Amino acid sequence: MKNIVIIGNGIAGVTAARHIRKLSDHKITIISAETDHFFSRTALMYIYMGHMKYEHTKPYEDYFWKKNRIDLKRAFVKQVLTDDKVLVTQEGEKIAYDSLILATGSKPNKFGWPGQDLEGVQGMYSKQDLDMLEANAPNKETCNRAVIVGGGLIGIEMAEMLRSRNIPVTFLVRENSFWNGVLPAGESEMINDHIKDHHIDLRLGTNLKEILPDENGRARAVVIAETGEELPCNVVGLTAGVTPNIDFLKDSGIELGRGIKVNRFLETNVKDVYAIGDCAEQHEGIGLRRPIEAVWYTGRMMGETLAQTICGNRLEYKPGHWFNSAKFLDIEYQTYGWVFSERSKSDTEQHFHWKHDDNTKCITVSTHTETGKFLGINTFGIRMRHEVFDRWLTEERTTDYVIKHLPEANFDPEFYKQFEIQILSAYTNQLQTA
Ligand SMILES: Cc1cc2nc3c(=O)[nH]c(=O)nc-3n(C[C@H](O)[C@H](O)[C@H](O)COP(=O)(O)OP(=O)(O)OC[C@H]3O[C@@H](n4cnc5c(N)ncnc54)[C@H](O)[C@@H]3O)c2cc1C
Repeated sequence: MKNIVIIGNGIAGVTAARHIRKLSDHKITIISAETDHFFSRTALMYIYMGHMKYEHTKPYEDYFWKKNRIDLKRAFVKQVLTDDKVLVTQEGEKIAYDSLILATGSKPNKFGWPGQDLEGVQGMYSKQDLDMLEANAPNKETCNRAVIVGGGLIGIEMAEMLRSRNIPVTFLVRENSFWNGVLPAGESEMINDHIKDHHIDLRLGTNLKEILPDENGRARAVVIAETGEELPCNVVGLTAGVTPNIDFLKDSGIELGRGIKVNRFLETNVKDVYAIGDCAEQHEGIGLRRPIEAVWYTGRMMGETLAQTICGNRLEYKPGHWFNSAKFLDIEYQTYGWVFSERSKSDTEQHFHWKHDDNTKCITVSTHTETGKFLGINTFGIRMRHEVFDRWLTEERTTDYVIKHLPEANFDPEFYKQFEIQILSAYTNQLQTA
């Protein structure tokens, strides 16, 4: 029986623990500085918005851990002594391990803006961030305006959270269209309109210069870099991306890049030390994937894969075809395979784009220009079936095939029948024009 210690009780660490328990009798301890129990980070916004309570975000009852002999410890690990196979906590306690799994997640980026550590300035990542937002912005009387800095998925969620309490929001986005490093132009522009429709003051092509304090050291305004404009506010949300949470590993001898460097088996350079989830960085991205994948389901997959290795069946991490989903206010977004933005698209990638007249539904299909092969699809406001696109990508279908068989992929065929006819006719028109 081995002594397995896991740092981090997010989706990656907890999945590893659950699967190690299914496969073995090893002693398992999960350490976390954040909360006593695992909760769904993706559901944090719904607590602030009043749709659920914190208790509802816990996928397992509190008795689950004891019943499954998974020990939970609330502590911050400040040091890993790999030669001695020992961890040291903030309180100075030493914890020995045979195998160590690092699943320490991410932290919000801060780019050295003057005033970034003032009171009222915060990220939106942890349970502590949620509690802080509740204190900083309980209502529009306490918070007259919030400014959000950084136009990604967490930024738009934070804007939605604050708008749910009628708090005026200004959203500073460095790019000249929302998330256009990832989304093709037609989609990004549709989301710009959708953000503005929600009475969010969207400022594109706009950077933060500094955050100004009041006499008590609280944020009172932000200054816009391009114009020098001073925008009064009580809360500043820093949502300009996340970085792996690895500062405490600096002197551990574990190879670090932006994250914790791992091979395809999720092994670090130090024997018996592994990394999974947001904090893990592949030496080279798998296929077209990025070396660091800060998404929920890949954390789960890495946890499942590593459990096999820990229990004697050394297994390579193979995440399969890329997919993801998110929500931009009222519009659901799904992506299967690869659809790159104009900025990152290659010469052999061609897009077919269809948008509904109501400007809340669209799809973009990516095709290989020479072979006609289907490379991927983005859908907005139309829900599709993951397993169907996954199969078509494996079968290397053409885009012609995919468009003709779209009804098979639809989640709700009756409801979406009308859109398929429109999509097919737009696609046929485009082919005839070409
Ligand atoms: C608001 C929000 C919304 C999101 N929405 C989506 C979504 O819709 N879809 C999606 O795919 N992804 C989403 N994500 C990203 C997704 O939540 C993360 O990719 C995922 O939670 C990462 O899981 P993890 O297990 O790697 O790490 P985490 O969940 O970050 O867990 C790591 C834990 O380790 C603890 N820890 C770190 N260092 C130490 C230490 N030294 N000592 C002790 N404990 C430590 C941390 O406190 C934390 O509790 C969202 C993220 C946020 C913040």
